[in-house]
Formats: sequence, structure tokens, C-alpha cells
Amino acid sequence: MENIRDNLALVLGRIAAAAQRCGRSPADIRLVAVAKTHPAEAVRAALEAGAAIIGENYIQEARAKFEALIHCPAQWHFIGHLQSNKAKYAVRLFQLIHTVDSLGLGEELDRQAHKAGKVQEILIQVNISRETTKSGVSTAQAMALARDLAQLPNIKVKGLMTMPPYFDDPVRARPYFADLRHLRDDIRALAIPKIDMLELSMGMTGDFEAAIEEGATLVRVGTAIFGGRS
Ligand SMILES: *Cc1c(COP(=O)(O)O)cnc(C)c1O
Repeated sequence: MENIRDNLALVLGRIAAAAQRCGRSPADIRLVAVAKTHPAEAVRAALEAGAAIIGENYIQEARAKFEALIHCPAQWHFIGHLQSNKAKYAVRLFQLIHTVDSLGLGEELDRQAHKAGKVQEILIQVNISRETTKSGVSTAQAMALARDLAQLPNIKVKGLMTMPPYFDDPVRARPYFADLRHLRDDIRALAIPKIDMLELSMGMTGDFEAAIEEGATLVRVGTAIFGGRS
């Protein structure tokens, strides 16, 4: 687990350097350490080394790790595909759900958040590249979904999330990141009441620096911190 500490320090250094290169404050970019398939002890090592936010893709797996690490201060974010029948658990475990892509899921989260006595913070997942294999609403649908989600009293929309196609050269992902930023700015210009539209969750191990240069506020990095997944 020693290399998790070193890896985390390297990633944080690269985030700070990328921010400085484009005149942003490193404090405006938060790292989500993506721990899917890695054991609770790896997550503990990351938290002890200074990670503040853990990202998980699967509810079952997250629940087990959350229980094991209940005494470790951490924010947990959900970044996987969420089925409505798991919304209850998602609301209990996660501060931020990055992957809301339908009004139906938003309504179920709203119901469960009401029961749990919380306001659930969410991001709208946008399929910027329109790949059929990816979840997320289209750019055109995102505005309407933002308006509809804003009506739900126990949901708070904080921004947008995307996953561009994989490229060997991260420079090629930049136009997709720029598109998400433009969409964020367009939705923000609508000044929909009760919507923040500040966060841009984009960038993974292969392309987080490019994402930062295009305005990412949350980068989701797994492999560079925890190593490869089997
Ligand atoms: C797994 C995953 C990541 C992290 O990917 P790495 O390439 O390992 O950094 C980020 N975002 C989402 C949605 C993921 O599923």
C-alpha cells in the first residue's frame, strides 16, 4: 500500500501543475480517488495519505467498504450506472451522485432523499460523444432535464459529468471536455432557480490534465492511484 501514498502525491502534484499552467487555482479542482475493484485496505491507505473523496461504481461493493471504513473521515461519490432500485442505498452512502441521466432516476432519488431527510446532491451525466455504449443524456436533453430536476425539492443539481471516448493522445479528448464546459455555461445562463451548475466532473487517469485545462472541477482518477484493475 506504500505506493498508493506515492501515487496519490504524484497525482496531486500533476493536478496542481495542470491548474497552474492554465491560470487556475489548484484548490478549485477536487480529486475523486476511484476505488472500484480495490479492497477497503487500499481505500484506507488512500485516505490516510490525504485523499478526501472516494469514488465507487457499484453499490454492493461500496457498501462493504463503507462499513469497513466507517470511522475514516471521507466523502463518498457514486460514479457508476445507477438503477432506480438501488437509489435508496445510493442516498444513504453518497454525498454526490455523478450519473443522473433520467427524470425517472431523479424522481426516485428525490423520494429516497425525502425519506432519509437529506437533500441529495447530483450531477447530470451527459453523453457528449453520443457513443451508443455510454450512458448519459444528449446535449440537447441536458437543459430540459436540468429544468425538470430543479423542480424536485430533495435534489440539488450541482453540475455536469461526462466520459469522452478513450484516446491514446489525451489532447483529442479536449474538444469533448470543452463541449461539456460550454453546455454547463449555457445551462448556467438560464439561471434556473435552485441549480448551481458549477461542477464539471471530467477527466480520468489518461486525460485528467486535459480536463483540468478545459475547466474540470472534479477529476475521477483510479488507475494512477490504485494501480490496474483485473
Ligand atoms: C473507473 C472509472 C474512472 C477511473 O478510471 P481510471 O482510468 O482508472 O482513472 C473514472 N470515471 C468513471 C466513471 C469510471 O468508471
